[in-house]
Amino acid sequence: MLPKKKGLIVALDVTEMEKATRVVAATRDYVDAIKVNYPLVLSCGIEVVREISAMKYVLCDFKIADIPNTNRLIAELAFGNGASGVIVHAFPGRDSVRAVKDVADRSGGDVFVVVEMSHPGGAEFTAKHADDFATIAREAGVRGIIAPATRPERIEMLRKIIGEEMLILSPGVGAQGGNPVQAIQAGADYIIVGRTIYEAGNPGEEARKLRKLLAE
Ligand code: C5P
Repeated sequence: MLPKKKGLIVALDVTEMEKATRVVAATRDYVDAIKVNYPLVLSCGIEVVREISAMKYVLCDFKIADIPNTNRLIAELAFGNGASGVIVHAFPGRDSVRAVKDVADRSGGDVFVVVEMSHPGGAEFTAKHADDFATIAREAGVRGIIAPATRPERIEMLRKIIGEEMLILSPGVGAQGGNPVQAIQAGADYIIVGRTIYEAGNPGEEARKLRKLLAE
């Protein structure tokens, strides 16, 4: 289970195994988890989850968003290949979230619900329904929610809905303009950082600096 603390998750949105391996090796001592999304899995196969999970907590950001049965199948594949957590959308409804939570409970894994997306378009639709999505997440008893570092005031508001125990993972730091310190001060537990780390000349150094910032 991802613990309650201030931490760093690297979003490994690369499409080559060699680069993925390099970034994992460089950052693993400074990050708490590796987030794997479709770009990596579609180019390298689900085996990549198995390989990285041998070293680190892997969070499968498959933004699972289907009927309960399909959600269950996707979650079983993620956890069956070593993932420790998955990210799910709330808009298909609470039964769809519940289907993923049931699989996670059987595997001892975590579920995180997207409540508001971090890009500008996230304000168009997800922000308007974020309160409902956060309530669905709380009632389903999942480990946490995903809320935008690009809009720290929203993190603060969403924290009030979910309470203190659930985690807030916050993407949008760096490349999308979010500030890591503001996100944490607003109530995020973990920041999720992709391009700022994996596109850096020295990804390990970038992760180390972010880690240090969180410790201050
Ligand atoms: O490169 P960057 O740091 O912007 O990467 C952010 C990561 O977080 C990407 O993998 C993106 O898919 C993910 N994400 C996000 N906003 C959300 C949920 C996930 O940016 N609401």
